[in-house]
Amino acid sequence: MMNVAALVDGKLIDIGEPVIFMEDRGYQFGDGVYEVTRVYNGQCFMLKSHMDRLFQSLAALNIIFSYSYEDLYNFHQMLLKESGIMEGSVYLQVTRGVAPREHAFPKKSSAQLTMSVRPVKDQSMLRKVGTKGIFVPDIRWLRCDIKSLNLLGNILAKQQAVEAGCYEAIQYRDNGIVTEGASSNFGVVKNGVIYTHPATNLILKGITRAYILTKLAPRLGISVVEQEFDRSFVLNSDETFVCGTTTEIMPIIQIDDQKIANGTVGALSKKLQIAYIKAIQEECYI
Ligand code: PMP
Repeated sequence: MMNVAALVDGKLIDIGEPVIFMEDRGYQFGDGVYEVTRVYNGQCFMLKSHMDRLFQSLAALNIIFSYSYEDLYNFHQMLLKESGIMEGSVYLQVTRGVAPREHAFPKKSSAQLTMSVRPVKDQSMLRKVGTKGIFVPDIRWLRCDIKSLNLLGNILAKQQAVEAGCYEAIQYRDNGIVTEGASSNFGVVKNGVIYTHPATNLILKGITRAYILTKLAPRLGISVVEQEFDRSFVLNSDETFVCGTTTEIMPIIQIDDQKIANGTVGALSKKLQIAYIKAIQEECYI
């Protein structure tokens, strides 16, 4: 049986139960952080990397958190066991907790952990044929490197993409530099080299992006350059793709009204996809 399952501070609850106080700072200010981990074959993929980033995000916002790696691994296991979900994603959120509404950090509050697991939609067919993106101005704050709950800029960008019939919004800053997708990192292939925005404060240091850069590309003998580029560089490239935990490696074959190269999935994107699937199999299907 497959069920949505949820935990509050490590205790199983019914996801429909009202458990959050109205003065939770996550609810009032978006004062918190989150992670999403993909589940394949009933096992979490790259959970350690996600938990490492969670602790980095918590540290960046000075949120005091009492759970250990081991607690978090156990909580993931509990959710998977309870739900019976084999192909899904775990959403984990930590807020600074409940306090009277004042902007500055409260003297006393305890972090609130909530987690849930749901099945994911199969996007493997779309990954084979590729999909469309649109360029949108990047209106987000200047700490996109923190995986915070404040996602309004991302939400508005994604909504524009959806309304334009596109899969993803590819964002660019006022100076024309392309940063990342609304919920993904962005890569461009030109003359056999992968280009992607450097991991600065302007993008999330995606776990999928890092895996492509440090593991898959070297394994395939592909060079990677972390460098700024603009929209015309993208439109004149050979291949483009977005990547992320649930997105995996998704070829973008058209942006706005312009096809990228001949408007089909490129050879290098395919190679990356195959190598990524192999990595999933090695970790989750043994
Ligand atoms: N950038 C943004 C803005 C995202 O929301 C995501 C998805 N979490 C990513 C990049 C990709 O990160 P990851 O590979 O860690 O999922």
